[in-house]
Amino acid sequence: MKHVTRMVYLACAAAVSLAVPQALTAQQRDFSDVRITPHHVAGTVYYLEGQGGHVVVSAGEDGIVMVDDQFAPLTDRIIAAIRTISSDDIRFLINTHVHPDHTGGNENIGRLGIPIMARDRVRVRLMASLPEIALPVVTFTDDISLHLNGEDMEVITLPPAHTDGDSYIYFRGSDVLAAGDVFRTVAFPVIDLNNGGSLDGTIEALGMAVGLAGPNTRIVPGHGVVSTRADVMEFRDMVIDVKAQVSEMVARGMTYQQVAAANPTARYNAKWGDPERFLTAVYAELGGGS
Ligand SMILES: [Zn+2]
Repeated sequence: MKHVTRMVYLACAAAVSLAVPQALTAQQRDFSDVRITPHHVAGTVYYLEGQGGHVVVSAGEDGIVMVDDQFAPLTDRIIAAIRTISSDDIRFLINTHVHPDHTGGNENIGRLGIPIMARDRVRVRLMASLPEIALPVVTFTDDISLHLNGEDMEVITLPPAHTDGDSYIYFRGSDVLAAGDVFRTVAFPVIDLNNGGSLDGTIEALGMAVGLAGPNTRIVPGHGVVSTRADVMEFRDMVIDVKAQVSEMVARGMTYQQVAAANPTARYNAKWGDPERFLTAVYAELGGGS
């Protein structure tokens, strides 16, 4: 078990980076070449591509609502990109979850006097690494809605999935779902066990996205390309299949090395890449090695 625990810890780069001060994380990276590119999704909703999780923006008659803020050194460029969409006030920032590639700009945004909103658990976890000014000032434990820009922006609290503080934001009028990192198109799911994530919650949360979305809903992942309900279904079904395979292997007493060698993700690796981080989390959560 000790070996598996160590591997899980090493595999969770996002969790490890949370353990170091935010400033150090930013200093370790070179952001000088990062460009922030706005993309229109539908209706009032845009997303900004840069480095780290996508920033989702609703722009309309009441101003701007931002979802996530990448890294602190990018805040000026993010604001400049938003200014190419609208010159109106930024009314709120919502954090989809705790990770520093989604909350790294919070201190700068807080200093601009823009209220930050997130689940209670996000605030509690951020308190360990960020100053007061960077913390959410509005927190919630259940679903909430914002009514701006002619939208019902539904902030939907999820079961512990990518972390234990994940939210979706569904822009009902524009029919766009900002999925945070529960859904990514560039890799297998990241289940951050050190921040309370869970395999079953990931499956449930992906099912909630499938249930929320219609055939025309545009789904903006935390990382990757704008997707459809069918894409989320494919991703969820992959997770369910891998869980079933690994459950059976754990029941047969297989070690992590044996599971990895059996390659339960074989048919998915071409699409989602290196499965080790995902497989390690799945194995640990299913009780493998204990
Ligand atoms: Zn994340």
